[in-house]
Amino acid sequence: MVHDARPGIAARLDGPRVARLENYSGYDAGDLRRLVEAGAKAMRASHKLHVVVTPTPQRTRGCAEVGGKKVVLAVAPPSRFSKPKLARILKHELLHTQGLEHEDMTDEELWSKGPEPRWARDKQVRHERKGKAIQKRLR
Ligand SMILES: [Zn+2]
Repeated sequence: MVHDARPGIAARLDGPRVARLENYSGYDAGDLRRLVEAGAKAMRASHKLHVVVTPTPQRTRGCAEVGGKKVVLAVAPPSRFSKPKLARILKHELLHTQGLEHEDMTDEELWSKGPEPRWARDKQVRHERKGKAIQKRLR
């Protein structure tokens, strides 16, 4: 409907897109939240997301409901970690939340290939191990 283009809707969605972030990985929750926010904003995510981040000994992969709000990211250990790859996978999953099926995606989107998305380039995703060790020493 034409009414969906009301400017008021875009304004109301200017707030955070990540409603909830559950982080079971060793990566910094704030870094992960900032990365997902940047992607969701750049891609104009239309609903609030529930993001779950888990560790995996294998390569990074993702899972999301088509047209839903839940995104699961299983992130590789630091020895196998690539931020551009994580960002491309996140983009793929965000496209699913926007209702896209695999047949609706370009080859780059489908296989999470190509350059790092622009919105991810100034973001960092740090592993927490070092930070936690320092915090413990300070207590
Ligand atoms: Zn997919």
